[in-house]
Amino acid sequence: MISITIEHLSKRFDGTTALDDVQLEIAAGEIFFLLGPSGCGKTTLLRTLAGFTEPDAGRVLFGTADVTRQPPHLRNTGMMFQNYALWPHLSVARNVAFGLEERRVPRAEITRRVGEALESVQLSGHGERRIHQLSGGQQQRVALARALVIRPTCLLLDEPLSNLDTKLRAEMRGEIRRICHAARLTAIYVTHDQKEALSIADRMAILRAGRVLQTGTPAELYRRPASQFVAGFMGESNFLPGRIHQREGDRAWVVTPLGTFVVRMDDPRWPAGAEVTLSIRPESWRLGPAGRGNEVAGRIVEQVYLGDTAEYSIRVGETLLRVVELNPRDTRRALPEITASVAPEDVVILPRELSAPS
Ligand code: ATP
Repeated sequence: MISITIEHLSKRFDGTTALDDVQLEIAAGEIFFLLGPSGCGKTTLLRTLAGFTEPDAGRVLFGTADVTRQPPHLRNTGMMFQNYALWPHLSVARNVAFGLEERRVPRAEITRRVGEALESVQLSGHGERRIHQLSGGQQQRVALARALVIRPTCLLLDEPLSNLDTKLRAEMRGEIRRICHAARLTAIYVTHDQKEALSIADRMAILRAGRVLQTGTPAELYRRPASQFVAGFMGESNFLPGRIHQREGDRAWVVTPLGTFVVRMDDPRWPAGAEVTLSIRPESWRLGPAGRGNEVAGRIVEQVYLGDTAEYSIRVGETLLRVVELNPRDTRRALPEITASVAPEDVVILPRELSAPS
């Protein structure tokens, strides 16, 4: 297990800034996600870690060793890409053995290590099969075994599940997490799928235009985003413009077009009078009067029953609120008039941004 330190990495490709002063500390054994929209620099960062792209400035440390100018083969990173490029004409075992044959590992050791790698991805007994005889998920496991068998210093994964259907993706999420932790590997995983990141990551970074906007655990980024962009990227949210009316202890009273909300806040940045944006996730609302404040009354203009949840669009004055109800009892609410409330802990205060997140 090694830690990875990324210091002030920058990279430009004729006129495009792919990485802009990126700084990250990834702990040994951590599964760390790089998440962001298309073109934000995720793949460039991964390729810089593997040694395929040379940065214009900054350093990459594996443990305490500076590997910034080291060629890829000396870094010994294991890689698994979206297009996992297995050889269809070779057996599963030969595919997995390839990296070891290249390194001229003795035959007996190859056989033993391939067996161990296949066991770790639960494909023992499949060594002699051809690749085309395997399901998509099994092929993914072979690609993972091939990356693991060289005993890499760290594992780099670039959208490894994007070719799989929804059910297999969900199954492989748990598998990848289990295998990485069992092998005690430091893993860096690139995706633009926030569900994948939330379900596998120990910690993650959100990138935008080559910059790291925020790092944290999945729950920190989902529940305590620092900007409207991060809040919107992690999932759906209702954004309300507001002004802080009063602060007292860890409470703030924020005036919005929907009324005054009490918000739990320990951030000293915003004094009374500050213009802010409130972020409230659709699932934070409770339907029906709760008598605990933070209530709005509106009219349901759209409702979708989904079994485990129901989704509502509720018009409150000029604002359209998105509300998700868990375990809905009414398959369709007959009365359009409704009250919804939210707990102070579930309202996040964000800086006011001039434009909505893209
Ligand atoms: P995606 O999710 O679409 O794969 P990404 O976040 O991985 O995107 P990168 O592939 O790292 O983004 O690209 C970051 C920026 O750098 C983009 O604007 C891209 O067009 C540019 N870029 C990347 N590689 C090159 C290259 N070899 N030559 C020129 N521009 C490049």
